[in-house]
Amino acid sequence: MIEGTDYRLTPLLSEDEIQEKIKKIGRNLSDRFKNEVPIFIGVLNGSFIFMADLLRTMTINCEMDFIKLNSYAGDKSSGTIRLLKDISADITGRHVVVVEDIVDSGLTLRFLKERLAGAMPRSIIFVSLLFKPDIAKLDFPIDIVGFEIPPDFVVGYGLDYDQKFRHLPAIYRFEGL
Ligand code: 5GP
Repeated sequence: MIEGTDYRLTPLLSEDEIQEKIKKIGRNLSDRFKNEVPIFIGVLNGSFIFMADLLRTMTINCEMDFIKLNSYAGDKSSGTIRLLKDISADITGRHVVVVEDIVDSGLTLRFLKERLAGAMPRSIIFVSLLFKPDIAKLDFPIDIVGFEIPPDFVVGYGLDYDQKFRHLPAIYRFEGL
């Protein structure tokens, strides 16, 4: 029950399920980049909580930065990606880990891949907590996916509906009013 809202939210992924999965992803990344210092790039706003939790599971040295993109208004994708804030770090020659909250159409990821590849990183991998396989049109794989989910609109754990519900520790299917 979320106080102060009339919207219907149906539980999809619990806080425990999410945290367990993140520990697994953190172990995978710590093994993969042993003896390296990767730079994590979080995609704002949605990935800020995932990024914070994921970094705290890392057992190797790592750095971080954020990029801010926009393609959604309300619960609909506009189909056009706008760059609202670029990264500040120099990623040339670095191992880059892009951290996304959710991959829906895949447009954002494709935009990021092209843009970041232009800076000539040593390697680049993509991590997304959520993935909607029925919708995404990608011509390259997402290296690490937390959960595959149905093609519904979801909120919580960083994901919003009109900037609300980001603070919820679990993930819900957003059912409208
Ligand atoms: P894509 O470019 O893959 O279509 O969409 C990526 C962005 O759209 C995500 O980073 C996220 O901001 C937003 N998005 C896509 N699906 C959902 C969803 O189910 N819920 C919320 N809150 N945002 C979504």
